[in-house]
Amino acid sequence: MAYIAEYIWTDGTEPTAKLRSKAQVLADGKEPGIWGFDGSSTNQATGDQSDVVLSPVLVTPDPIRGGDNKLVMCETLLTDLTPHPSNTRAKCAASAEQYDDLDTWFGLEQEYTFFEGNAPLGWPDNGFPAPQGGYYCGVGSDEIFGRKVVNAHLQACIDAGIHISGINAEVMPGQWEFQIGPVAAPLVGDEMWLARWLLYRIAEDFLGPKGTPISATLDPKPVAGDWNGAGCHTNFSTTEMRESFEACEDAAKALGAEGKPALHIADYGDGVEQRLTGAHETQRFDQFSYGVSDRGASIRIPWQVEKAGKGYIEDRRPNANCDPYVVTQLIIDTVCSAAKS
Ligand code: ADP
Ligand code: MN
Ligand code: MN
Ligand code: MN
Repeated sequence: MAYIAEYIWTDGTEPTAKLRSKAQVLADGKEPGIWGFDGSSTNQATGDQSDVVLSPVLVTPDPIRGGDNKLVMCETLLTDLTPHPSNTRAKCAASAEQYDDLDTWFGLEQEYTFFEGNAPLGWPDNGFPAPQGGYYCGVGSDEIFGRKVVNAHLQACIDAGIHISGINAEVMPGQWEFQIGPVAAPLVGDEMWLARWLLYRIAEDFLGPKGTPISATLDPKPVAGDWNGAGCHTNFSTTEMRESFEACEDAAKALGAEGKPALHIADYGDGVEQRLTGAHETQRFDQFSYGVSDRGASIRIPWQVEKAGKGYIEDRRPNANCDPYVVTQLIIDTVCSAAKS
């Protein structure tokens, strides 16, 4: 029997790449191989030289179609099989390879917001719900919107073999989070892009209270004003950090070294300045600080890490719409080069 392989990739849209996918029917027993697409329709090529190559990097069971069907996360290549300019994975893989001996692990907390039409899911058409305060990890239909989609997504990620480690309802109604990891780069990025694709795809199948389909967005500031934005807190550790508190502090200091905060912020997702105002948890985008338990800092060292004297640290700055390949590559380069010097 033939099976269906859904090929998934990130496109060339600026400033934030979009996910694209298309399906290929493959004969039983045939592995998903190199394929291609029309790059002139995805901001990845001009019409006269439109072919872009899809090269599989992660193949999983397809939890939506089921059976023998597969999801195929890909990177994009030029026709000479070198990385396409929009391929951020290749650079991430090179950095991970360079510092292979430090064995960096990442745990990414992906926040996102459901919408129905023009309003966040469960919000009134006009006006606002009750202010933030009771929604985070809440329960009950007056506080929680979209749990069916969240649970379907969680199960789908598990069935696909993604290292999803949890979910929670967030501070703004209609806002949620899932966590991937800890996993090494670039795999953590492959799994994050695949989990994002599953989220968008699964939401298509659910209707909101107005009877229209639900969508999910990674918009870092989906509602202006006194509502938390959506981030992608990036937890990470090296072998040394998993053995010593001093190495955890050194990593936080390396991220604050001259020139590094601006370098990271510039690539932590479009609109990061609108989210990191300093008013809604996390330090302002143009200031740098770190501290134990401090959710107002750029970098938080969890209290359990201080207590255990080892573990990992949390970079709270990346936006929900960040590219996980870029964020993990920057952290590896900054922290591992400092650890080696
Ligand atoms: P928060 O309290 O910030 O909401 P979460 O529980 O949402 O924290 O996320 C913590 C993340 O830290 C998880 O994704 C987990 O996988 C990750 N994590 C735990 N230990 C490590 C480690 N040693 N290195 C990297 N990431 C880790
Ligand atoms: Mn979290
Ligand atoms: Mn959160
Ligand atoms: Mn966090």
